[in-house]
Amino acid sequence: MNDNQLLRYSRHILLSQIDIEGQEKLNQSSVLIVGAGGLGSPVAMYLAASGVGNLIICDGDQVDLTNLQRQIIHNSDSIGQAKVLSAKQSLVKINPEVNVIAIQEHVDAIKLRQLAAEVDAVVDASDNFSTRYHVNYACVLHKKPLISGAAVRFDGQVSVFDLRYSNSPCYHCLYPADGRHEDMPCAVMGVFSPLVGIIGCMQAAETLKILLNIGESLNGRLLLLEGLTMNWRSIKLHKDPACPVCYTTIPTPTYAVAISR
Ligand SMILES: [Zn+2]
Repeated sequence: MNDNQLLRYSRHILLSQIDIEGQEKLNQSSVLIVGAGGLGSPVAMYLAASGVGNLIICDGDQVDLTNLQRQIIHNSDSIGQAKVLSAKQSLVKINPEVNVIAIQEHVDAIKLRQLAAEVDAVVDASDNFSTRYHVNYACVLHKKPLISGAAVRFDGQVSVFDLRYSNSPCYHCLYPADGRHEDMPCAVMGVFSPLVGIIGCMQAAETLKILLNIGESLNGRLLLLEGLTMNWRSIKLHKDPACPVCYTTIPTPTYAVAISR
C-alpha cells in the first residue's frame, strides 16, 4: 500500500478489526452489484469509497428524471444516459483506484451465473422478484454470499444469505416462487427517498463485513424496517427442507428452466 492509499484508507486502518491487512483484502476483493438504482447507488458508492477493488455493476435502464429523487449516484446531467455509465463516472470520481465494470443490460439467469462465479460477494439491489430469484440461484450454484435488500413506500428489509455454508437459508426459502409474491414497483407504489439509502447502506456494511470476515453478519436474520415509526423487527430465518433451490447441493436444471419463464 503506497502513502496515498494509507491516507485514503487511514480511518479504516485505524480500526483494529480492519487494519492494513483488512484494507488490502478489500482492495483485492470483487463484488457484483445487480442494479444501479436506489439501493445500488449507496451500495456502489460506499463500496467504491471503501476501496473494494473490483466492482461489477449491471443495469439495463437509462437515467430518468423520476430517478433523481433517490438514486443519488446519478445527477441531472446523467438524464438519458445509461445508468451503469453514469454510475461508473460517479464512482471513478469518488475513488479512481477502483476498477468498475459496467454491464449495460438486464442480466438474465445465464449471465448472472457467469458473473457470480467471478466475485467474492453478490449484492442484490434489483427491484423485481424475477431477477432476485435468478441472483439467488446463481449464488446457491456458486456458493457465494448474497446481500439482499428491498424498499418500497416507507418500508424496507435487508438480509444476508451466506450460501458458502450449506446450512444457510436462501432467498427462495424465504420467498418461494409460488406466485404469491408480486412486484411492487416504485413507479406505482412510491418510495420514500432516504429509505433506499438506509437499506442500501446496510447492504454495503454487510458486504464489507463479509469481505473482511469480521463481526456477525445478518445471515439467517431478516431485518424489517417500518420507516414511518423507525421500528426495526428481526426475524430468524430457517432453511426450508423443501426448497427446490438450495436443499440439494446442485439445483436441478428443471428449476432453472421454470424460473426463466
Ligand atoms: Zn432455499
